[in-house]
Amino acid sequence: MDFSLNEEQRMVLESLRKFLDAEIEPAFRAHGDGPIPREKMQRWMQELSEYGLIKAPHEEQWGGFGMDWLTHLLIFEEVAFTSLDIAVPGFINSVGAEMIRQLGSDELKRKYLPDLISCDKFVALGISEPDVGSDVAAVKTRAVRDGDHWVINGEKTWITNGEYSDVFICTCKTGEGEISHILIDREEHGYDVAGIKKMALNGQSTAQIFLSDVRVPVSNTLGELGQGLKNTLKIFEYARCHMAIWGIGLARRALHESVKYSQEREQHGKKIAGHQLIADKIATMATEIDAARLLAHRAMCMVQNGERADKECSMAKWYGTEIAVTATRNAVQIHGGNGVTTEFVVERLAREAIITPIPDGTTEIQKLLISRCLTGIQAFR
Ligand SMILES: Cc1cc2nc3c(=O)[nH]c(=O)nc-3n(C[C@H](O)[C@H](O)[C@H](O)COP(=O)(O)OP(=O)(O)OC[C@H]3O[C@@H](n4cnc5c(N)ncnc54)[C@H](O)[C@@H]3O)c2cc1C
Repeated sequence: MDFSLNEEQRMVLESLRKFLDAEIEPAFRAHGDGPIPREKMQRWMQELSEYGLIKAPHEEQWGGFGMDWLTHLLIFEEVAFTSLDIAVPGFINSVGAEMIRQLGSDELKRKYLPDLISCDKFVALGISEPDVGSDVAAVKTRAVRDGDHWVINGEKTWITNGEYSDVFICTCKTGEGEISHILIDREEHGYDVAGIKKMALNGQSTAQIFLSDVRVPVSNTLGELGQGLKNTLKIFEYARCHMAIWGIGLARRALHESVKYSQEREQHGKKIAGHQLIADKIATMATEIDAARLLAHRAMCMVQNGERADKECSMAKWYGTEIAVTATRNAVQIHGGNGVTTEFVVERLAREAIITPIPDGTTEIQKLLISRCLTGIQAFR
């Protein structure tokens, strides 16, 4: 087992970090907390794509770099360290493109993969509905066959990239107890979008999507009919490794800021890093971040090697996002009063971290999945 980076990964990460520090960090700070317009987000995504965001794991024939998913996680962590708002749309485009690569027809791949990988287009992935969250099998959005088209009706919510999206991969019922995926093109088939305002991560888009008699050719079905749940679980494996890195990127930034602050701030006649209760917080953060990263990398290696990794992906997602909540909370504590002001980045990190244990299966759901893998007994209902 080798934990060291290879030469290519080292070079990519070094040049990416320089670019993030010199260009993206100041531009993101200047932008502030509000929604990032599509053109600006697209420009940032395309600049970061040249360092591998979105492109790294995809095949060269579609415009990717032909690297691996583990390298993509490393790149993703760097971007998340600087701005989760900017990392997230790249994560959705990467995973959405992978879904089309695995399940789409050759025609759909030719039509959409190059544009999603270059970020000329944005994709969104929709499972959740107002009444459907953790219980994915209960989706109500319905596609009814009419000749060689589907007619789709329903409402999706919490959809990342929703407002930016050109393409929407919709999880819907195509028959009694039959869940499938259908690719909807916003320009060709049409759907309505409304943004959702949150406690954090308002730079990127989270939205509702409304589908009213949307007619889509049957040839836009992704994967076999009725295989939607199985295919969702497969794509969740990629997503959960990235979600773990959402948390790890935030926690690492929280540690970075805390180390810096505790080396500078003096109380009771010495630097606060010299107080044992602060030292404990710093040591705990660093150890939990490394443990979380090892879990995420193990899960990603298993996924890219084609091994079954549902338990390992759930462990990584649960742990990586929950340690982000404690690390960012401790970072605020280490900063004292300054930690709750918008002048210090830890305030933003803490608001962002609290969101991370929710998407792609909550912490509770990850624990139920892990336990089911170990005991063979489900505890969902
Ligand atoms: C920022 C953000 C981005 C998102 N992006 C997307 C996206 O792009 N696409 C998409 O489809 N969805 C997306 N989601 C939705 C997300 O996947 C859901 O919010 C999540 O699955 C939880 O569903 P819910 O919010 O309906 O909560 P619920 O399922 O209603 O759960 C409420 C609470 O009950 C707990 N709970 C539920 N069932 C059980 C059980 N059996 N045992 C114990 N506890 C249980 C949950 O853990 C949670 O604490 C996003 C959400 C957020 C916040």
